[in-house]
Amino acid sequence: MARIIDGKAIAAEIRKEIAKETEALTAQGTTPGLAVVLVGEDPASRVYVSMKEKACAETGIFSDEYKLSAETSESELLKLIDKLNSDKRIDGILVQLPLPDHIDESKVLEAISPAKDVDGFHPYNVGRLATGNPLFQPCTPYGVMKMLENTGIDLTGKEVVVVGRSNIVGKPVALMCLAQHATVTLCHSRTADLAEKVRQADVLIAAVGRAEMIKGDWIKQGAVVIDVGVNRVGEKKLVGDVEFAAACERASAITPVPGGVGPMTITMLLYNTLESAKRRAGSSR
Ligand code: NDP
Repeated sequence: MARIIDGKAIAAEIRKEIAKETEALTAQGTTPGLAVVLVGEDPASRVYVSMKEKACAETGIFSDEYKLSAETSESELLKLIDKLNSDKRIDGILVQLPLPDHIDESKVLEAISPAKDVDGFHPYNVGRLATGNPLFQPCTPYGVMKMLENTGIDLTGKEVVVVGRSNIVGKPVALMCLAQHATVTLCHSRTADLAEKVRQADVLIAAVGRAEMIKGDWIKQGAVVIDVGVNRVGEKKLVGDVEFAAACERASAITPVPGGVGPMTITMLLYNTLESAKRRAGSSR
């Protein structure tokens, strides 16, 4: 039976370390600060934003919230970002996505100073990651890498198969695995014979968003399985992209859903904010 990779426990451990470092940095006169910008009333976004604020409070990070109406214009939002870019108390700026339709998302993300882009979505940071010299790495894939590190697996020479090629998970996690010397296959909706590709994987990273579409008997014996997918089934149940029970019979280690990758995402946002504050403290010495 597979070992369960406990995302909650790993996240709690990292957050403890973040709280300790934040306290020390604050004592030296630099409190890490995160600005969280929410435009509109999307219920899921509101939940994410309040989880982020709570996580900041628990680790001693200062959070500054901007809850703007759905009617906010693009130029008003760009003005706010401009102000936050030069706000000395702010080390990270997070604009909760999705934005209302009348606002150009990429224009907004590109307006964030790359030095405060703790989500790692600015093309400058995407480029830094792609060229092997990252400044900020996007939080969910960064969390996946921390979990792999925690399983003790050395990716050098391993076959990593990533299913999903989004800008926020699939593509960046593929680049991160490549940087760790894995041989990476990046699959998507047009991949021919996905099952065959998955069967090759020493490490499988699933980020699709389709309930249990990756079957347990596709998993190579002894593989490590990281399931990023979060899919609602019925009223209350959440499942991943991988058929969990069947995959447990073959994998050597696997993340559960919920309690796997989920808790790591906000943790890495805190981590990036702290790193940014450390750079600020370093440059003002
Ligand atoms: P996207 O919808 O942006 O991307 C999904 C990817 O899956 C696309 O690249 C798509 O291919 C691919 N895909 C769709 N159907 C198939 C198929 N039948 N076979 C192979 N590939 C397929 O999703 P995200 O990357 O944003 O998120 C993926 C999942 O991860 C979701 O369940 C989301 O909820 C979850 N998630 C969880 C987070 C966490 O913190 N735990 C954070 C972020 C996401 P194509 O490009 O060809 O369309």
